[in-house]
Amino acid sequence: MSKRIFIYLQQHIGAPAIPQVNVGDRVKKGQLIAVPNGLGANIHSSLYGQVVNITQNYIEILADEEQPEEFVPIKETDNILEAIKEAGIVGMGGAGFPTHIKMNVNLEGGYVIANGIECEPLLYHNVKQMEEKPELIYRGLKYAMKVTNASKGCIAIKEKNKKAIEAMKSVIDDDRIEVKMMPDIYPMGEERALVRDILGVLLRPDQLPAAAKAVVTNVETLSRIAEAVDYRKPVISKNVTVVGRLKSGRKPLVFFDVPIGTPVSELIEKAGGIEGQYGEILMGGPFTGKSVNLDAAVIKTTGGVIVTDPLPKEKRKIGLLVCGCGANEARLREVAEKMGAPVAGVERCKQVVDVKGGIKCENPGNCPGQAEKILKLRKAGADVVLVGTCSDCTNTVMGVAPKLQLPVYHHTDHVLRTVGHKLVRRLKK
Ligand code: SF4
Repeated sequence: MSKRIFIYLQQHIGAPAIPQVNVGDRVKKGQLIAVPNGLGANIHSSLYGQVVNITQNYIEILADEEQPEEFVPIKETDNILEAIKEAGIVGMGGAGFPTHIKMNVNLEGGYVIANGIECEPLLYHNVKQMEEKPELIYRGLKYAMKVTNASKGCIAIKEKNKKAIEAMKSVIDDDRIEVKMMPDIYPMGEERALVRDILGVLLRPDQLPAAAKAVVTNVETLSRIAEAVDYRKPVISKNVTVVGRLKSGRKPLVFFDVPIGTPVSELIEKAGGIEGQYGEILMGGPFTGKSVNLDAAVIKTTGGVIVTDPLPKEKRKIGLLVCGCGANEARLREVAEKMGAPVAGVERCKQVVDVKGGIKCENPGNCPGQAEKILKLRKAGADVVLVGTCSDCTNTVMGVAPKLQLPVYHHTDHVLRTVGHKLVRRLKK
């Protein structure tokens, strides 16, 4: 049966891309169908089919039943940066920053850090890719080092992911490149946390890793660079973890190379379908995922699709504690509303700062202590608190809230409970 895909024009940091096709046009897999409008990246069709609708947000394609493997290659070039640009590569760990701009730096004496941390609980596609396809990532890392003139490379992986560590080590044939093992805390994958822990440089929230002579790039992004350079392949697919209330069980399922534009509903059906009544469909991980409906479609930054249990019900007044790397105020208010709890007050972790219209943390994952903020929420009339904080900060919340008889919810609770994962509370000593 023919299916519809929805290729969003905003799959990157910057402005929505400009369509280059019209309703009724036949399109091929890999064909360029939208170009950047200022900051942005090229967008290609992920399947063969016919354009049936174009809106401000997406190009809708009725896909052919026959889908040959062949794709329209990007134009031939010896220039790595140009290949990255032509292929429409963006940060596929979730950031969506155009990679050809990130890689346009001179890192002589510096580092390319391959980010294989996958610090959101439940997501597994980066780790599985490292376990099963380390060569492609490694080739991408070498191309990234070449194009940025970097002197060293490292692959950051959580210490607990032993199989991925061994797989990546097994393909390294260059003594400028090494694997770094990192702790299992959130938000270890934040790029400034990696620069701090690997290079010993604490960047300001408004600084990019280039200020420390480094670029940090997600491992899937690196594999897409290798595909663009070696196979002239544009970004037409995404690796995605699907997990949660599924008839097939509660273990994460990884789908490699899901065509961009695939509706979330189709992906969930492929994973076995939803079991019973669910709470939310999250696109992304438990900490930073967005609640979407079943019509949402996979874009270049989609990492996870999570079907959660219903949210807990709570009638008492709730105080919200905002984090620069976890839940922002909007997400905490959304969770509180779905729980049914009236909001008594909102506080920000004291390391939250405003940067370019959003919020960031001054020193990701390194807690300044939360006693003062919890006391303020108590004074504002909160009978319970809902925190969106990192692992370390939640640890200190648990050092104070129970003493004030304030029960604690974390905004990831209903997500983690769905699969029987340990809740974000006290860290082990
Ligand atoms: S220190 Fe505060 S702002 Fe930073 S990650 Fe932890 S909770 Fe979030």
